[in-house]
Amino acid sequence: MAAKLLKGAEVAKEIRAALKEEVDELKAKHNVIPGLVTILVGEDPASESYVRAKQKTAHELGFHSIQDNQPADLDEEALLALIDKYNKDPEIHGILVQLPLPKHIDDQKVLLSIDPDKDVDGFHPTNVGKLLIGNPYYSPCTPFGIQELLARSGAPVEGAEVVVVGRSNIVGKPIAAMLMQKGPAANATVTVVHTRTKDVAFHTKRADILVVAAGVPEYIKGDMIKPGAVIIDVGVNEVGRTEEGKRILKGDVAFDEALEVASAITPVPGGVGPMTITMLMKNTVHACKVHNKIK
Ligand code: NAP
Repeated sequence: MAAKLLKGAEVAKEIRAALKEEVDELKAKHNVIPGLVTILVGEDPASESYVRAKQKTAHELGFHSIQDNQPADLDEEALLALIDKYNKDPEIHGILVQLPLPKHIDDQKVLLSIDPDKDVDGFHPTNVGKLLIGNPYYSPCTPFGIQELLARSGAPVEGAEVVVVGRSNIVGKPIAAMLMQKGPAANATVTVVHTRTKDVAFHTKRADILVVAAGVPEYIKGDMIKPGAVIIDVGVNEVGRTEEGKRILKGDVAFDEALEVASAITPVPGGVGPMTITMLMKNTVHACKVHNKIK
């Protein structure tokens, strides 16, 4: 039987509808508007499209939203000064610096300069630390979206064998940390594999829940999947363009093969991606409430 599709796009729509109500209430009752700035340095087409999607959603929800585009040759000092300006701006509650940054800029230094209270991407070491000790403040958006999707899908996470493919700071490490915590949609036994793992398939084949964030198109084949597993495919890989110039995207999982083996799988696109953007909005609403001391 073909696996059920975990349609993040639909779940994200539900969450955004609830967020819109919250935003309207914040305006009506408290006269505050969630403020989000997205800073893009350079003209990488993929980054431009991600930032556009984030801004579009922020506008739809009625945020005060600013897209701040900076040239690729912006120097590090200038970027730090820009962040400092937004750190001090009372109308901005969330600051997102789109990664990757140009090579001449130290991204860790930049992430460190964002006020942890405005770090809606959840990448500041203070927020990473809080997440790790089980006291999250802002959870990073992609893992947060994955956990929410798992929770709403009814997939049993507690006690599950979870295998995460990839150990990036953005996806692999934080999702592993989140699913191993004590708490709802967590309490899993987590294994993380990467390029130095001796036998990746040995691990993936015993996963009840397989989270794949490797950035390698169709890396996980059907015979690497445990029958009945729940698959979260985080990968977004451009493998070509249509005649009209539209990007052709593939996940990190061989989708057609996985459909035959797994019990549920996120499609690419329309799975994890829309959840990521939505959790950024959720974090920004949260930031706005914290800044305005609203429960
Ligand atoms: P990344 O920083 O490049 O990390 C990739 C990780 O996968 C690394 O830890 C790497 O191991 C591991 N890996 C790569 N090839 C492997 C292999 N053959 N076997 C085992 N492990 C392997 O990537 P990322 O930022 O985590 O992103 C991963 C994918 O998710 C990309 O396609 C990205 O576009 C996508 N993504 C999607 C969203 C979304 O919202 N949908 C958000 C973020 C990222 P080493 O550490 O050993 O090098």
